[in-house]
This record gives sequence, structure tokens and C-alpha cells, in this order.
Amino acid sequence: MDFLQTPENQILVGVVVAVVAIGVGAVYLFSSKKSKACLHPEEFKEFKLVKRAQLSHNVAKFTFALPTPTSVLGLPIGQHISCRGKDGQGDDVTKPYTPTTLDSDVGHFELVIKMYPQGRMSHHFREMRVGDFLAVKGPKGRFKYQPGEVRAFGMLAGGSGITPMFQVARAILENPNDKTKVHLIYANVTSEDILLKEELDGLATNYPDQFKIYYVLNQPPEEWNGGVGFVSKEMIETHCPPPAQDVKILRCGPPPMNKAMAAHLEALGYAPEMQFQF
Ligand SMILES: Cc1cc2nc3c(=O)[nH]c(=O)nc-3n(C[C@H](O)[C@H](O)[C@H](O)COP(=O)(O)OP(=O)(O)OC[C@H]3O[C@@H](n4cnc5c(N)ncnc54)[C@H](O)[C@@H]3O)c2cc1C
Repeated sequence: MDFLQTPENQILVGVVVAVVAIGVGAVYLFSSKKSKACLHPEEFKEFKLVKRAQLSHNVAKFTFALPTPTSVLGLPIGQHISCRGKDGQGDDVTKPYTPTTLDSDVGHFELVIKMYPQGRMSHHFREMRVGDFLAVKGPKGRFKYQPGEVRAFGMLAGGSGITPMFQVARAILENPNDKTKVHLIYANVTSEDILLKEELDGLATNYPDQFKIYYVLNQPPEEWNGGVGFVSKEMIETHCPPPAQDVKILRCGPPPMNKAMAAHLEALGYAPEMQFQF
């Protein structure tokens, strides 16, 4: 150990040891942060229901705890999770859902669920009580949002099809470096059916230059300044960005609506690569 006899070499060794220690610490911190993501793409993981809030006669917000207060679900923007439950006959059923929370919301995730009287997975959610566990796997989906991938999104949502749009819109608007514009058309039967209304109106108020929303109702109340009937070609023409290579139109709604929207978009000249259906 003659090398350590001189003060210069002792300082040099000290510096090297410190640099290595900082590096190891950084790698540990980084990997432990990463390991807090909770989803597995092939394996169902169980999450405990910690809160259930009824939002209307057939819609409820379900809050699930993640393993620790700093855990994140680990869901890329634009992707969804598969939830498994039992239908009214006791048979297994698995359906896709998009949390309304992002990975910036740590320690928990939320699902806003519309429960249909005859729906198989709806039955499972209707029966769920605080303390029960939900089996979830993911991430799933062909769409993964990258900031700046387009100049503007048009979004055509119906009913519970709002949740993937809300997730993407929130991620864009809450990122100060992302200047993407979002033009959302949201269709429902009555005004009571509009999901996340307060949150959507909040986004429109807080980001007036970046986010526009146009509500459409089949059965509007007496005083109503949105659209009436089904979403038409003219409504898309007026409220969505026109076809362009740097524009994408996202669709998510009940199957008949998706079919009608695909026909409208084709007639308006949106090429297939300018469209995506969740
Ligand atoms: C990517 C993605 C994300 C989704 N995210 C959410 C979400 O966050 N919250 C949510 O509530 N749903 C969401 N959905 C819809 C969800 O996956 C189920 O389709 C829905 O919960 C109905 O499932 P079910 O098994 O209860 O009904 P099913 O057993 O499939 O259907 C039974 C009956 O319910 C009615 N029904 C079912 N779906 C619809 C519909 N969309 N519109 C009108 N009537 C319908 C019909 O009458 C149908 O005959 C999402 C779908 C996709 C593709």
C-alpha cells in the first residue's frame, strides 16, 4: 500500500470512492423508483378498493390503493388496463378501462365506471365494496402518446369513452412543454350522463388556447348551447382540426358511434393514419 503513503494519492482515492458511492446511490435510487411501478403485462395484480363514490345513478368513482404511498401504477399515456371480475352468472370476465389518474398521482389510481344493467363487468363493479380487491394487468393498447407527435388532436368520445381522452388531454395540458392542441367533441344522451364534466370544464377554463370542448346531447335540457342529436359530419368539420399529416383524430365510444364516426371521418378526407380508435 505504498501508493497510499502520499497525501495526494490519499485524496485521489477518496475522490474515486466518493464518485463510485454517488454512482451506486444514483443507480439504486433510480431502480427503486422504477420498481415502484405496479402493473405487470401478463400477470393479474390485486389492488384494494379504498373508496367508492357514486357520481350518478349508474356511474361511480372507484379509488384503489397502490402498495405504498409513493408507488405509481406505471401506465404510459394512451394505454389502458385489463380488469378481471365475475359476471352475474359467476363466470370470469375481463374488460379494458382507462384510469382517470396519471402516474403523477402517486399511491393510488382511480377508475370512473359506468355500470350498464345488463353489462357483465358492470355487475362486478356494482357489487364491489370498500376492502374488496380488483385483479388488474397491463399496460395494454396500441396507442402510446409521445409529446409533440402531432400538432393537434381531434377527439370524438361517447359516454364512458371519455376516459382515454381525459387521460391524454390531462397529460398534454399538465405538461408545460407540450403545446399540442386538443379539440374534444363529447356525446351523451342526457346532461346527467356527462362524465367528468367538472374536470373537463376546468381544463377548458385553465387552458383556453389549448383545449376546446363541444358537448353533444341526444336529449338536451331546455337551455343548452351545445350540439343536439348524434355527432354529425358538420360538427366534426366545425370543431375538429381539418385533415393534415400532423393531426390525429381519436375515437372512443359505443360500437355504433365508432362506426358512424369512422364513416364521417373518411367522408371528410381524414386518411386512416390520421385516425385512431381506442
Ligand atoms: C380503451 C378503453 C377504455 C375504456 N375505459 C372505460 C372506463 O374508464 N370506464 C368505463 O365505464 N368504461 C370504459 N370502457 C368500456 C368498458 O371496457 C366496457 O365495455 C364497459 O364497462 C361495458 O362492459 P360490460 O361487461 O359491463 O358490458 P357488456 O356485457 O359488454 O355489454 C352488455 C350491454 O351493456 C350495454 N353497453 C356496453 N357497453 C356500452 C357502451 N359503451 N355504450 C352503451 N351501452 C353499452 C349494452 O346494452 C350491451 O348490450 C373502455 C373501453 C375501452 C375500449
